[in-house]
Amino acid sequence: MQSAIEVKNLHKSFGNLHVLQGVSMTVGEGEVVSVIGPSGSGKSTLARCICRLEDINDGEIYLYGQRVDNGKHSNKEVATLVGMIFQQFNLFPHLSVLDNITLCPIQAKGMKKKEAEDLAIRLLERVGLGDKVYAKPSQLSGGQQQRVAIARALAMQPKIMLFDEPTSALDPELVGEVLEVIAQLAETGMTMVIITHEMLFAKDVSDRIIFMADGNIVEQGSPQDIMVKPAHPRTQAFLQRML
Ligand code: ADP
Ligand code: MG
Repeated sequence: MQSAIEVKNLHKSFGNLHVLQGVSMTVGEGEVVSVIGPSGSGKSTLARCICRLEDINDGEIYLYGQRVDNGKHSNKEVATLVGMIFQQFNLFPHLSVLDNITLCPIQAKGMKKKEAEDLAIRLLERVGLGDKVYAKPSQLSGGQQQRVAIARALAMQPKIMLFDEPTSALDPELVGEVLEVIAQLAETGMTMVIITHEMLFAKDVSDRIIFMADGNIVEQGSPQDIMVKPAHPRTQAFLQRML
């Protein structure tokens, strides 16, 4: 079976800082993979390299068998394959929820306005915000805004969703509603990479967990292997702090 994501020997530096030191990973179609690890270990950089927000120094990145790191694909093409959700929701404050969601499908994909709006409304219902179509972002809670951001990413109909600490900016009582939407999405068979500090969520939702430290993948395996009987002392120490 063809992999959705294949990263081979990826190196990324910022100046003298060698952030990714030869990372190799594969994500199968429909697989849900969580990436955990200490702050500064290179998780966000890895995600940003996969969706072409960063140039890489060495290695190869393939999405559905197509090499995307060699400049032959525009960022726009990659953006239609991969939807990315960040800690900060980055909604356009002056636009309604509906317009936030329809903007990219109309402008970047050439979707008809009516079609884009129908899709947006369906997606808003799916994330539990069918009654917020005409609201402005400032009228929504952080959890609601992040759910709009997820609907906005889904409106581009990506084949892969990448989440980078989607709940880290939220008040604790709003975390659950966002995790629930992500868990529902995982059940639809969407290919997903989730960077998270929510260990119990990662254990529940993932097919596989990758533990990163210092720019390397230290170990990976089933949630049971990584969370319950991690082999590596670094993973053990990290989980002891987190759980
Ligand atoms: P994580 O997401 O695991 O916390 P990051 O990928 O954000 O880690 O960061 C890894 C390292 O790379 C950190 O030391 C961070 O300061 C550095 N870094 C990340 N982005 C940049 C950048 N644009 N310029 C310089 N250094 C960066
Ligand atoms: Mg990060």
